[in-house]
Amino acid sequence: MIFILGAGISGLSTADNLKSDITILEKNGYPGGLATQYRSGDYWFDFSGHYFHFADNLNIKKYVEQFSCFKEYKRDSRIYMSGQLIPFPVQYHLSYFPEVTGKKIYEEMKERTEVSHANLRDSLIGNFGETLYSMFFNPFMTKYYRRDLSEIIPAMDRGSIPVPDLRSVEEGLSGKTFADKGYNPVFYYPEENLRTFIGNIEKNLPGKIKYNETVLEIDLKEKKIKTDGGEYFFTKIINTIPLKEFISKLSPCPEWAEGTDKLESVSTLVVNLILREKRENFHWVYLPEGPSRFYRAGYYPGHPDTACYLEMSLNEGESYDDKELQSEVVTVLKKLNMIVSEAEIEHIDVRVIPGSYIIFNKEWKEIVPGILKKLKENNVHSIGRYGSWNYSSMSNDIKSGVETADLLNGDQ
Ligand SMILES: Cc1cc2nc3c(=O)[nH]c(=O)nc-3n(C[C@H](O)[C@H](O)[C@H](O)COP(=O)(O)OP(=O)(O)OC[C@H]3O[C@@H](n4cnc5c(N)ncnc54)[C@H](O)[C@@H]3O)c2cc1C
Repeated sequence: MIFILGAGISGLSTADNLKSDITILEKNGYPGGLATQYRSGDYWFDFSGHYFHFADNLNIKKYVEQFSCFKEYKRDSRIYMSGQLIPFPVQYHLSYFPEVTGKKIYEEMKERTEVSHANLRDSLIGNFGETLYSMFFNPFMTKYYRRDLSEIIPAMDRGSIPVPDLRSVEEGLSGKTFADKGYNPVFYYPEENLRTFIGNIEKNLPGKIKYNETVLEIDLKEKKIKTDGGEYFFTKIINTIPLKEFISKLSPCPEWAEGTDKLESVSTLVVNLILREKRENFHWVYLPEGPSRFYRAGYYPGHPDTACYLEMSLNEGESYDDKELQSEVVTVLKKLNMIVSEAEIEHIDVRVIPGSYIIFNKEWKEIVPGILKKLKENNVHSIGRYGSWNYSSMSNDIKSGVETADLLNGDQ
């Protein structure tokens, strides 16, 4: 029997495409993992902005459209700097800076050369120059990753930081706006909502998901899984629970799986809100400037018009003070003109999503690809954003589920 660990979007799409008999073990009482919604008071919220990007995955768009119609949104995202909203991506829109600064950034970008860089700091400076690095990239990404950017390896962000050609930079300097640059100029959201979409995939898998069943131990030699509900013998495992957690459950732990304590991630604190009115029309805004620790604010698509969110990264185990947080929320919302007074906040909910963004530290390359390979040799396909300890979107995860199912279907 093939066992799938986790009924998130990766596990569900694998199960839906596998021809053999399978069981999914899921610790929650519901499907979807992060790609669903939770209820707070009278409202349903996503776990912060969950937009589908199908740009490189048109087959996946076709596949998911059996489960829901998707509404298309033309991205309107901005960067809040020096009291103004600059269109994303900032490197294309230098006319928003004082003329001298814009020209200086352009001159620095002209100096770039095709060299490979040792870390994210050097790579950003190499591509965009010191000035834009210190004004935008460094403050923004330090908030996001909660560490010095020289500790992070470059080019692992799947093209989310586009490097403009110099002609576009020049045009941007003279005031042209680029609406189609950057990683997702168009995004999609299910016409009903995320949890209905997930529920429709679940309907294809009657009786196959064991909910409220937490995987506790895995013995790769005996091919045995122990949960808080029983013991099972597997032929293969498709793992979607975070790689680091999965490895910690291997008993006995093989020598090749050692070292995962060096893998790092940050958590996301999400503040979900319902406001009394919608004052702005952007989808989301990046917030490089301090003193606020929030790095992004946005309105939800496909929700009540006034549903919005703020995001902040926390290091694992890092705590926050409720009162300070509340006042920071009000300050940021006012600054962005999303509210004019605190009384406009109708509902507020705070969630921490643990281990939400993995860190591409220097150890990542030494550890992750090798462990994934070894796991495969031991009948474990570790996939999805957390199972493969990588950066991915929901459509990438669905793709990895479909591809893994195709591979295993071919083995039969
Ligand atoms: C703040 C934030 C914003 C995001 N925004 C977007 C976006 O706009 N667009 C986009 O495409 N993607 C976005 N993502 C990424 C997206 O959420 C993930 O890529 C996707 O949901 C991962 O799905 P998964 O199935 O691989 O993992 P998960 O959703 O984590 O599923 C894993 C499942 O395993 C279960 N599990 C864990 N441990 C055990 C255990 N011991 N036993 C049994 N079950 C277990 C969990 O309960 C969960 O259901 C965002 C992520 C975050 C954190």
